[in-house]
Amino acid sequence: MQKKIIIANWKCNPISTKEGEKILFSLKESIKTENEVIICPPSVFLSHFLTLFSGIYSFGGQDCFFEEKGAYTGEISPKMLQSIGCKYVIVGHSERRTIFNETDKTINLKINRILNSTKLIPILCIGENREEREKNKTFAILKEQIKNALKGVAIGKAKKIIIAYEPIWAIGTGVYAEEKQIEEAKDYIAKILCDIYGSKTSKIIYGGSVDSKNIKQILGTTDMDGVLVGGSSLKPKEFSAIANYK
Ligand code: PEP
Repeated sequence: MQKKIIIANWKCNPISTKEGEKILFSLKESIKTENEVIICPPSVFLSHFLTLFSGIYSFGGQDCFFEEKGAYTGEISPKMLQSIGCKYVIVGHSERRTIFNETDKTINLKINRILNSTKLIPILCIGENREEREKNKTFAILKEQIKNALKGVAIGKAKKIIIAYEPIWAIGTGVYAEEKQIEEAKDYIAKILCDIYGSKTSKIIYGGSVDSKNIKQILGTTDMDGVLVGGSSLKPKEFSAIANYK
């Protein structure tokens, strides 16, 4: 049985260290798995959780900046995340693209900075919105996002990246993509990677309204390497059922 990658993206939740600790202590009791469980809480909590729970979960940032240090008020660099013990960092989440105007260009700068200056594993999020899917533009969007994000990334480094296929219409909506849509997207992403590098290179995971009820269907009937979980990752019962998938 292949180990799966199970990522919790807490987004801008919860609002206190205590609440976050409560979730993680509860998960500690209920998660019994060989899968790689990665928690991405708000960055302000990372150091504290890394001290309490290192060796139990892996931790990651939800975003990072594309420079190492300097006069960039409010930003956090990949090296800083690495220095506190993070192993992963999410890049290009659709909420960052749409709410914070993140572009393919800045995503590419971030991916290169992460890979060239740290050992962090980037989790690159890509995916189409509802309108793009309805206009049959899904593959074109995926191709553009992957090609732009991976500019200047050599094959050896590309192998480290995890690509998260996250159709925007499935994020936070309770409507997850059908197995056929997930499988088609995975095959297409693999094809683009083959066109660029000659092989599939990266692990490919799915994100979008994953919960304890659909996890078996999503991972059992598709060939995905794991899942990225938003809303359900803040509910210990839900998330432990997802993390314990086998
Ligand atoms: C996400 O934030 O990446 C996500 C998939 O959210 P949700 O699981 O809530 O759809």
